[in-house]
Parts: sequence; C-alpha cells; structure tokens
Amino acid sequence: MSKKVVVLAETRDNSLRNVSFEAIGAAKTISEGGEVVVALFGSDVSAVADELFEYGADRVVIVEHPHLKYYTADGYNQAFLAVVEQENPDAIVFGHTALGKDLSPKVASRLDTGLISDVTSIEGSGDSAEFIRPIYSGKAFERVVSDSKPLFITVRPNNIAPLDQQVGKGGSTEKLTVDITNLRTIVENVVRKATDGVDLSEAKVVVAGGRGVKSSEGFEPLHELAKLLGGAVGASRGACDADYCDYSLQIGQTGKVVTPDLYIAAGISGAIQHLAGMSNSKIIVAINKDPEANIFKVADYGIVGDLFDVVPLLIEEIKAL
Ligand code: FAD
Repeated sequence: MSKKVVVLAETRDNSLRNVSFEAIGAAKTISEGGEVVVALFGSDVSAVADELFEYGADRVVIVEHPHLKYYTADGYNQAFLAVVEQENPDAIVFGHTALGKDLSPKVASRLDTGLISDVTSIEGSGDSAEFIRPIYSGKAFERVVSDSKPLFITVRPNNIAPLDQQVGKGGSTEKLTVDITNLRTIVENVVRKATDGVDLSEAKVVVAGGRGVKSSEGFEPLHELAKLLGGAVGASRGACDADYCDYSLQIGQTGKVVTPDLYIAAGISGAIQHLAGMSNSKIIVAINKDPEANIFKVADYGIVGDLFDVVPLLIEEIKAL
C-alpha cells in the first residue's frame, strides 16, 4: 500500500547536505509509489527547494523563522511537529547526523512512536520493508521490522544511494507558518573552525591518522594526501587525546561515523572503538608498521611500512598521474 513519507532536509550555510537526498531515496523505497514530502527549515531557504525535487521530492513544506536559522532542539522540534500535524505521515526519515541523532528521539517520544536509528540499508519496500542497522559497534547487523505508526527511521550518511538526479523535475512548494515560542536556547551565531573544505561525515575519501603519526606536524602529509584525493582528514581518539589534532576529527564509537568510498588509516592500530566509526567504508587501506595490527583484519589493502615513507610515496604517485 502506498504511503506518505515526511523527510527532514538538512542544510548548512543554506546548501542542502547530501544526506537529505539519501533520506529521500530511503523515503521513496518506503513510500512504494506514495508521496514524499520534504520538510525544509531555516530563515531563508526557499531557494534550495528545487534541488529537492531533482532528487525525488514530490512536495516541499518550508518553515521559515529567524529562530530556525541555526538548529536548536526546541525550535526544530516545534517546527517538525507542526509539519507532522499537517501531513499525518505514515513514515518519517531523518539523516543519522548530529542533528538527526539529537532530534529524532525527541520527536519520536512526542509522537509516542518507535525509532529505528542508524539504518544502513533497506530490503523490500512498503509494508514489507526490513531495515538493516549495525549493532555491537558494527560487529554485527540486525534486521528490524516495525509496526510503529508512524514508522520512524534515521539513515546513516553515505549508505543509501540517492535517486538519480532528474534535472527539471518539479513539484509543489508550500510555506507553513509556525509560531516558534518558549525556546530555552537561541543560537545567535555559529563560528566554524577552518577545515579543508570537505565535510568529514560526508566525504567520499577520508585519510585518517592515529597515534603513529606522532605529532600535529606529522598530520601535514595526511592533509596533503586528502586534498589531492578531494577528501577530508580524520583521526583516531589516540591522536586526538595526544593533541595532534582537534576532537572534531575523531572517528569511532565516541566520534564521527564515516562511510566513505575510500578510507586510508595511517598509524592506527584498529581498536574496536575506532572500527565502530569506519568499518563500513567501501575500501579500507591500512598503513601500519606492525604486521599484526588489528586494522589489517578489516583492511582491503594493507601496507606494512612506516607511514612517513609510504604517505609521501603515495602523494608522489598520485601527483604523477
Ligand atoms: P595506538 O593504539 O597507540 O596505535 C598506534 C598504531 O600506529 C600502532 O598500531 C603502531 O604500530 C602504529 N605506528 C606507530 N608508528 C608508526 C609509523 N611510523 N608508521 C606506521 N604505523 C605506525 N578510539 C577511537 O579511535 N575512536 C573512538 O571513538 C574511541 N572511543 C572510545 C570509547 C571508549 C569508551 C574507550 C574506552 C576507548 C575509545 N577509543 C576510541 C580509544 C581506543 O580504544 C584506542 O585507544 C584508540 O583508538 C587508539 O588510537 P590509535 O590506534 O591511534 O593508537
């Protein structure tokens, strides 16, 4: 039976994040030919609605308010509940991002429904859809079915393919006025740290360093390699704890979860807590001077060697291409 699915789009600096398109892809599978309605929040975001149609949205509901310029749990919760009240959806899809992880339990509890979080793939469609998600820090996967109303899932970035882009595909846009009141927090401004320009959570290539990198200067070749490959730099907690890099780069159980096409781990031992954040990457290349290092158990390609020899060689070879 076809369903109405509401997706929460995510923006950063008034651009849509890729996970929004992936969430629409998941919603299409669940809707089985029904309607996919995208909720778009911000203070001046109408201009990006067309891109949502290109990726499969049938309708976009825009809530604009000065207090929605930056995410706050209270503000987004009020706006999303207003969309749910208007649409009465059969299912809801969020990205499993920092925002989605924060907001989805609040919305689920307000709607008194279940939540299947961190979905990495969907088998079947409509009522017979089964949701696959990692458990035990990625050591196993479970298959979940749900009879919650509405069905509510979050999808891990970079796992569910968005639909092929159909430029020119239109749909209807409507504005919903929501009175955002009684906020406990109002964010006036966000100052971001300078980054290499590629968002680590959505990067297609991640070059990560561990304690084996030995210093913040040791990370420089990793930055150069990441830049050459159009990717982002990540790190183990060991490297962050040693102050070689910022905690915003930490990947793992208590850091970011990444699923790039290519993950290069340099000087990382492969502790279970680190694997929890990267073992779903499509191709893993490990560089470690210890042939017994645990990281080689999950690597597709292993290079036993000193990263200070191997990384410059890789840079040289890539530059020569
Ligand atoms: P190490 O284990 O010290 O490994 C360094 C590696 O570098 C070694 O394998 C060594 O052979 C290699 N090496 C050294 N020199 C070179 C060289 N010149 N060339 C090549 N290789 C070299 N960790 C995370 O990463 N992310 C998390 O989110 C996380 N969460 C945690 C949560 C909890 C509750 C706990 C208890 C721990 C958590 N940890 C996490 C920590 C985790 O257990 C490990 O301590 C950490 O991942 C180790 O980091 P590392 O691999 O960089 O360092």
